Order: sequence, then C-alpha cells, then structure tokens
Amino acid sequence: MFFTGSKKQPDAPLVEKPWPGITHHDTPTVEKYLRRSGAKGGGSRSLFKMAMNKFSKPFRALGKTRRKEVEDTQFHELKWKNDHGNLRVFSANCEKIVQTRRPQPVPCPPCSTVLSSKAFKKTLNKPPKASKNAIYTNKRYQNRVIGEIYARTIGLQAIIEEPNAKNTPYVRYAQGALEGKYDNQVFNGLVEAMVTKIDREERGVGMQNFKYALAYDEFCNVLRISSPAAYRAFQEQLPGNFR
Ligand SMILES: [Zn+2]
Repeated sequence: MFFTGSKKQPDAPLVEKPWPGITHHDTPTVEKYLRRSGAKGGGSRSLFKMAMNKFSKPFRALGKTRRKEVEDTQFHELKWKNDHGNLRVFSANCEKIVQTRRPQPVPCPPCSTVLSSKAFKKTLNKPPKASKNAIYTNKRYQNRVIGEIYARTIGLQAIIEEPNAKNTPYVRYAQGALEGKYDNQVFNGLVEAMVTKIDREERGVGMQNFKYALAYDEFCNVLRISSPAAYRAFQEQLPGNFR
C-alpha cells in the first residue's frame, strides 16, 4: 500500500498569549479610522439620546454638571476602546488572553463580537472629514492633551498655547506659504533670510555662506544700484547680500 498524500504535520502546541487587539491584521480600515478620529472608543448611545432619556432635554440644553454626567455615562457604555498610540481597538469586555497555535491569533470572543458588529463596521466605513473641516471637530473628539504633548515635542507649543494663534498674520503666512499661496519670490526670500538671520544670531554666528534666494538677491542689487541712500536705510533694517 502506497501513501501519496503529504504527511499531516503535527499541530503546533496551544499557547496562551496576550491578545494584541483588533489591528489591520483583522480589518484593513481600522488604522484609517484611528487616524481620522480622536474618539476614545465607540458603540455607545449618542449623547443626544442619553440626555433625552435621563433628563428629557437635548444634550446641548444641559448645564455643565449634567453634561459631564451624560459624558461619563457614555464613556462607561463604550462597546470598544481605542488605543491610538498602537493603532488598535479592544472590546470594552476584552478577555485579554487568547489561546492560539498561530503567530497571529484570532480575536477573543468579545473582540470578535465588536469586529462583526454593525456599529463598528459603520464607524470604520465613515468617510474622512476634509482637512479644512477638521477644525470643526467636536472638542470631545480632539485628544487635546496628547496633541499638546506632541506639539511641545516638535516645537509648536507657542502656536498651540496662544489662544488665537491661527488668526495671527504669522501663522496665516506660514499656512499660506506651505499651501503655495505666496508666489512673491522676493518676499519669500526676505522671510527666509530674516528667519535665518535671527536663528544664526541666537547661535552666535553670522550670515556667512548663506545663499540668498535669487529673486531677493536681485531685488537688493537693483535697489543698491538705483538708490544708494534708500539701500542704506534698507540695509539697516533687513538682511541682504550687501557687497
Ligand atoms: Zn479581546
């Protein structure tokens, strides 16, 4: 008697592992969801429904204390909780440990229930807000504390903490310049030179070897040739390649 089929591999041993959460391994859109939403989780009733149910008033009509109460109730009702730092989601009732024979374990039963729930699928498939509308994101869904920590680490603390920063001409210019709205190369060259000059002064070095933007350099040159007096006044206030 001949056996032509391949020999059955013995099963890998069943091991206990901490469940790593619902990640892109389980559903490819989970990362997109976590990147677009700062919510702590989901699956609870809406604030409106809960406020109507408990206080017979819409959430917006409630005072601070009652709002807080509704928000706390909503938090405890979350069916799933988001871990933005690690781009994963856990059921609020997660069993935390799974028995598995495979490197990528299957979700624990409560996480599996979340994964197949209508509410979770609907949330994952929501289209992202256009970035210009992102500023209207409800404050409850902005992870403000994390945002502030991040801003400090990348040196944007002043912009975040200044209450009206986005309306100052400085921030508006920075935003506009990054969006390519300022195509005046002389002005952009001046800003670049000014920022570099202050930066170098703080470090105790001069403007040696700084390469001025061509358009700005030419503008300085024209000024120098056409009006030496005006040029001197200019030179006292602004940086330039003064030959
Ligand atoms: Zn779980």
